[in-house]
Order: sequence, then structure tokens, then C-alpha cells
Amino acid sequence: MKYTLKLAIAALLLGFAGALYAETNDMKTNETESKNLTAAERSIVEISALTAKGDLEKLKTALSVGLEAGLTVNEIKEILVQMYAYAGFPRSLNGINTFRTVLDERKAKGIKDKEGKAATPVRGGDKYERGRKTLEKLTGQPQVKPAPGFGEFAPRIDSFLKEHLFADIFDSKVLNHRQREIATISALAAMDGVAPQLGSHISIGMNTGLTESQLNDLFIVIENSVGKNAADIGRGVLNNILNGSTVMKDTGDKTDNTIFGKGEKAPQQNFTGTVYVQPMTARDANNNFSIGNVTFEPGARSNWHTHPAGQTLLVVDGIGLYQEKGKPIRKLVRGDVVVCDKDIEHWHGASPQSQMTHISIANFKDGQNVVWLGPVTDEEYKAEVK
Ligand code: MN
Repeated sequence: MKYTLKLAIAALLLGFAGALYAETNDMKTNETESKNLTAAERSIVEISALTAKGDLEKLKTALSVGLEAGLTVNEIKEILVQMYAYAGFPRSLNGINTFRTVLDERKAKGIKDKEGKAATPVRGGDKYERGRKTLEKLTGQPQVKPAPGFGEFAPRIDSFLKEHLFADIFDSKVLNHRQREIATISALAAMDGVAPQLGSHISIGMNTGLTESQLNDLFIVIENSVGKNAADIGRGVLNNILNGSTVMKDTGDKTDNTIFGKGEKAPQQNFTGTVYVQPMTARDANNNFSIGNVTFEPGARSNWHTHPAGQTLLVVDGIGLYQEKGKPIRKLVRGDVVVCDKDIEHWHGASPQSQMTHISIANFKDGQNVVWLGPVTDEEYKAEVK
């Protein structure tokens, strides 16, 4: 009888989320179950969010609901272990102790919970490399060692991230990548001040197969368990990603140095070194120009080139260089604006020691906005900066 009561409570709680979902989606009457998160996945959302937030009262109920929804003891244990990488040991340990209490109480009531497959961590081999490859698979982006930016500055945290989180924890096999990303997104959604990481993990979650409708479902659960404010922040981050205005693909759990995202590696034939381009707007009926966010790693630069209708550069980060043929090299810092006249042969790039990010606004003439010429030689690049 008690078991039936628990089931009824679980059904009620799940039904509540379901009813809210139905309310916001009543136009889509043919929604199939697979378009939404499953009951077990919704429980992963609740358990992760409440653990990260430290709301142990609600967590107690969520843990029981999760077991009733079909999560095994070991699966929940694994979610709570993963939480320490995102919310710290105190939150993770409080979650684990709460789970022990819940299991003891259920056992005392004669409920037999399913243990499930236990964690079997992979041992040996190059752990960093395993973690790096896992992150590459998750993000769909090349990951270099050390991670640019934070990893160069603090190599130890880069090692911990790759070796521990993405190798030790992710290799346990108890949860799949999709379940782990549901857990991570939910934990981040419950925490303040981690919107960039939330954006990264929403993108990764989509790489693991999460759909827009499932992510909306996730934020309904967040709204019910954590609150409307947290859910709305998450929805805003999701919408930005869906609109393509804030694509944060390059993760490694770091913040990109630009609010527009780093984008894809630029074609090697037009540049020396590593350059990333994030397209921002394409030429359209109103605007006869395209805008892109360009990031040059230290030492990287464009080839010599001209713009048939000119170009404007807005420097947003780092230290860069700009040179028009026959003139001295000009040093660029954040806030500098460069107006390059049409058909002027020139190049731009990072300084040897620092990366540089600029927004490029390039006008079109006869369907063309750049004419590429030869590379900038090391001698030309290292000429004295005036
Ligand atoms: Mn140019």
C-alpha cells in the first residue's frame, strides 16, 4: 500500500511537470513521448539541479521520484558524484548523504530498489588524452593541449578537467553522454553566474542528441524545482544559441573571450597561424556588407589582401597589428577602430605575444568583399612596430 502511495506521489509530481508542458504546447497535439524528456531524464534534471542548489528537502523527494521513475541506485550515485565537478564537494557530499537517508528509509519500508550496473572506471593509459578525446567527441571541436587561455595560464586545472572529469568520471559507463549532459545543464541552470558554461553545455547537449523541445522540457522541470528566474535565464541562453547569436562551441568549460563566440577555424590558405571566424551577419537586401568576429592566436595573421569596397575593423580583445603596404605596422588594442579604404593592400593579425579579436565589417562590390594575395613573411611580420 505504501509503495502504491509513493507511486501515486511520483505520478503526481511528474504529472505536474507534464501538465505544465502540455499547457505551453497545446497547439502541438501530436507530440510523441520521444519529443519530450523521459520520466527518468526529468528526474536527472531535478536531482542534479537540487543537488547543485543545495535544496536537500526537495532533493529527498526528487531522489524517491527518480527511483520510482526507473533510475537505478548506481545511476543516481553517479549523477551525485558528477555533481562535485560542477557544484563542488560540499554540495555533492550533501547530496550523497541525503541519498543514503532516502535509501535507508525506503529499505525500512520494505521497498527494494534496483542497484543497477556499478561504475567500472578505466585505468591506465594517458588519462589526459582520453579526456581530451571525450571532450572532442562531445563538442565536435578540436581540443588542443593545453586548452588555449585558461589552460595555458593554469595548466593544472586543464589537467584536472581532462583527466578527472572527462576521463575518470565520464569513463565509468554507468551513464551515457546524453544523461551526463542533462545532469550538467541542469546543475548549471540551478547555479548563478555560470551562463557561459551553461551555453557551452547546451551546445554539447545538442551534440549528444538533445532537441530544442527536450531542452524546453528540461527548463520546465527547472522552473518547478528551482524557480522561474533560473528557468528563464536558461531559456534565454538556449534561445541565443538557437538564434545563432551566441554560439559557444569551443568549451573546455571556459568562457570565450568574445560574446559572439570563437567560431570555426579559418581556411589555412589565406592565413598564417591559427585563426577562427565566427560569421555574425551575411550580406542581405538591406546591408551590402557581412560582419564576422575574427580571433587570431598569438603570431597569427591574414595574408596580404584588399577589399574592393573597404573594411572597418573593431578591436574587441587582445593586442593586434595592422599594416598597409609601404606604411609602418600599427599596434591595435581593445577599442581601436581601423577604417581601411577600398583596394588598399594590407594585412591584420595578432601580436607575437598576444591573441587579438576584432569584428570585421567588409563591404561588397560585384559580389566580392576580399581579394586575397600572398602571405605576410616572418620578416614583414616582425618589422618594427611604430
Ligand atoms: Mn582586411
